[in-house]
Amino acid sequence: MKRLVVVGAGITGLAAAHRAQCLLGLPSSGDGGQTGDAFEVVLLEREERLGGKILTEREGDFLLEGAADSFLTRKPAAFALCEELGMADRLVGQLPQPIRSFVRHRRELYPLPEGFSGMVPTNLEALVSGSLLSPAAKHRVMMEPAIPPGGPAGDESIAHFMARRFGPEVFDLLVEPLLAGVYAGDASSLSLMATFPRLREMERRSGSLLRGLAAEGAAAPALHPPFVTLPEGMGGLVEALGKALTGVRVLTRREARAVREGAGGGYRIEMEDGTSMAADALVLAIPAAVAAPLLIGFDGELAKLLATIPFASVAIIHLGFRRADFGRLLEGYGYLIPQVEGSDLLACTFTSSKWAGRAPEDAVLLRLYAGRFGGESVTARTDRALLALARSELAETLKVKAEPILSRIYRWERALPQYTLGHLDRLAAIDERLLAHPGLHLAGASYRGVGIPDCIESGFNAANAAVSSLSGGGT
Ligand SMILES: Cc1cc2nc3c(=O)[nH]c(=O)nc-3n(C[C@H](O)[C@H](O)[C@H](O)COP(=O)(O)OP(=O)(O)OC[C@H]3O[C@@H](n4cnc5c(N)ncnc54)[C@H](O)[C@@H]3O)c2cc1C
Repeated sequence: MKRLVVVGAGITGLAAAHRAQCLLGLPSSGDGGQTGDAFEVVLLEREERLGGKILTEREGDFLLEGAADSFLTRKPAAFALCEELGMADRLVGQLPQPIRSFVRHRRELYPLPEGFSGMVPTNLEALVSGSLLSPAAKHRVMMEPAIPPGGPAGDESIAHFMARRFGPEVFDLLVEPLLAGVYAGDASSLSLMATFPRLREMERRSGSLLRGLAAEGAAAPALHPPFVTLPEGMGGLVEALGKALTGVRVLTRREARAVREGAGGGYRIEMEDGTSMAADALVLAIPAAVAAPLLIGFDGELAKLLATIPFASVAIIHLGFRRADFGRLLEGYGYLIPQVEGSDLLACTFTSSKWAGRAPEDAVLLRLYAGRFGGESVTARTDRALLALARSELAETLKVKAEPILSRIYRWERALPQYTLGHLDRLAAIDERLLAHPGLHLAGASYRGVGIPDCIESGFNAANAAVSSLSGGGT
């Protein structure tokens, strides 16, 4: 029997195991597998629970998302997986009214201009008629089509690129906080080519991002809301995947500690509890920073390369209030806090106005996002300090001083990989090393996209390659 071992049961590892189960025809509920005696898939997870950075919990009638609260439908892998699991018709979008968000600027909230496509403003009228930008900044945005393509021949930071195209104010007040919401990153070190290569290509091709987007024409009407979740929260996806893995041996509370060469080829995974397991193919669906120490004794060069990918640590602070005490109508989905505001907070989401069923009828739920790459680590702070940070933000910006009836903090140490300048070179060097290790695959947020759809796609790709190597079809 040939064995594929997947290490890590976050969304990447779950997706990889599910794809491998399907490809190998292992018995999934009721269909009687065909190759169950020839192949085995084992999923190893350090924690008791599955899901990694997808963690939904209930506290009374509050529903709390510890990290990810939704996924993007424009990238197809997550939606496609939900279809495979028969749950796509249960996906829900954001509450329809009022569809707007804000930006904090000098402690006041300004509406986020409509029509941002990724990081690029597409609705100039909205941008220019809004009150957030200074007249000079508005003028500078209008000039974008006249700014010749430039920048270095190779890669450049997103900060440099966007400031070059739209001017520093649009970057500071709009692009930077939108970007921080995804990477918790420092835009002056994030690589354009590793995060938004399409923008560079558009500049080269059309001479201007505004012209390039216009040339692409009006986007086809979206079939689905841009962001979706499940009524029971993102944990519902993890639960459905866990249940669907009927042909996979899922072992929780099993921490991989080291990867070694197998006695007769393949790999041997040593566990924290002193046991070990042989694998003919191995998918490491864990963050690069966690994979690095596992690989030190196996391929020191590879381990060193993985260790060079930096990570940001973040914390999520949920606060629930009695509606009557809150004293302010929460219109919109929340607000972004640009780095230039000097806060350790990146955003405040009005969760109960954004998603249905997240708070009791007579209550509101807010979620504050803390941490920024390069800043002081927020995860080292006490609960008291993080609550004080969140409450002083609400007091100063929303003028809310009521006592919360719920508070809950989730800390995520080294959670968000930073695709800094040189990331693509690092990936190329990692791929080069992997050529020497047929059957070994790396997957997950650390490499080619941090969002849930990217992670699922990365898990699928790793499973495709691993199954192909198991069946004798190459690496
Ligand atoms: C605060 C926050 C908010 C986010 N919000 C969103 C969002 O709204 N939408 C979105 O699309 N994305 C969001 N993301 C990004 C996305 O959630 C993550 O990139 C994604 O969930 C990572 O999945 P993964 O499986 O690659 O890694 P992980 O979720 O980190 O899973 C890795 C798993 O491996 C296990 N593991 C680690 N080491 C070992 C070992 N040695 N042996 C065995 N098991 C091990 C871990 O316990 C974990 O279960 C957010 C991320 C954060 C941190």
